[in-house]
Amino acid sequence: MKVGFIGIGLMGQHMVKHIINAGHDLVVYDLNKKATDEIVSMGATFADNPAQVAAMTEVIFTSLPRPQDVEEVTLGEGGILSGASKNTTHFDLSTTDPDTIRNISSLYQQKGATILDAPVSGGTVGSEKGTLCIMVGGDRSKYEKYKSVLDTMGSEIMFCGEIGSGAVCKIANNLIGMTLGVVLSEALSMGVKAGVEPMTLYKAISASTGNTAHMKSYPDTLFKGNFAPGFKLDLGAKDVGLATDLGRKLRVPMKVSNLIQQTYIDAQNKGLGEESTLAIAKLQEEISGVEIRDSTG
Ligand code: NAD
Repeated sequence: MKVGFIGIGLMGQHMVKHIINAGHDLVVYDLNKKATDEIVSMGATFADNPAQVAAMTEVIFTSLPRPQDVEEVTLGEGGILSGASKNTTHFDLSTTDPDTIRNISSLYQQKGATILDAPVSGGTVGSEKGTLCIMVGGDRSKYEKYKSVLDTMGSEIMFCGEIGSGAVCKIANNLIGMTLGVVLSEALSMGVKAGVEPMTLYKAISASTGNTAHMKSYPDTLFKGNFAPGFKLDLGAKDVGLATDLGRKLRVPMKVSNLIQQTYIDAQNKGLGEESTLAIAKLQEEISGVEIRDSTG
C-alpha cells in the first residue's frame, strides 16, 4: 500500500519504521528534513510538501505537535487538502481538539477526502515497541479498511465513535496523566522531606491503592534527575489546555484541572517546556526545598 507520514518527531520516528517494515511504500515529509534522513535511508521517499504526500499515497498519517500545526499541514498552502483526491484517507495521530478535526473533516468532505482523528497513548516506548493505544474517531468503514496499518503501530486499536471522539478520549486521558504528575510530585516531596527514600515510597505506593502507570518510569527518570523527553512538557501543557478549553466550551466546571493548567504554565515560564513532562516535579522541588532523588544508587 502507498502510505504517507508527516511529522517525524519523537513519536513519528518510530511509527514510520513499523510501517516500512510491514512492507508498505512510504512517503514522508517533515519541516525539518534531517528528521527524515534515517527513514529515507531505509527506503522511504521524501516529498517536497504535504500536498505531494497526498498526491503520491492513498492513506496518510500525521503526528504533529499542536492543533495549529495540523491545520497548517492540512489546510495551509501546499497542504494535504490541495493534493488530496476523493480516495485520500488521513489519520491524524496528533493530540488535537475535536473542533479542529471536525472543521478539517467538513472541508475534506467537500473534496470527497476523509480525515479521522486517531490520537495515541503509550509514549515513545509504546511507539518504539509498536504497542500504542490508538483511539479512532470518524468513518468506520475507512477505519476498518486501514486498520491493518494502524495494527503495525499499536496493540490496542479502538474505534471510539464519530469524528472527534478519539480526540476527546485522548484529552481526557492526558488531563489525568498531567494531573498525576503534579500530585505525585507533591506526595513524593512530602515523603522525602519526612525522611523516606524515593524508592521506598515508590515500592509502597506501587503495591497500594495509589499505584498508577504514570509513576512506572520514575526510578529511571525523576529519581535519577533524568528529564530528557520523551513527551515534552510544552505538549503536556497543551493537552491540559485542550481539556480545560473543551470544559469551558461545554460549561463543565473543572476547578482542579484549571489549577493544574496554571502549574504547567508556571513550569513553562521557568523554561522547562522542552524537558520531559516529569520536569513538573522541579517546580515542587524548588518550593518544597527537597529533591526527589534516589540516593541509594
Ligand atoms: P515532536 O515535536 O517531537 O515531533 C513533531 C514533528 O512534527 C517534528 O519533527 C516537527 O519538525 C514536525 N512538524 C511540526 N510542524 C510541522 C509542519 N507544519 N509540517 C511538517 N512537519 C512539522 O512531537 P512528538 O512528541 O512526536 O508528538 C507528536 C504528537 O503526538 C503531539 O500531538 C503529541 O501531543 C502527541 N503525543 C506525544 C507523545 C510522546 O510521548 N511524545 C505521546 C502521545 C501523544
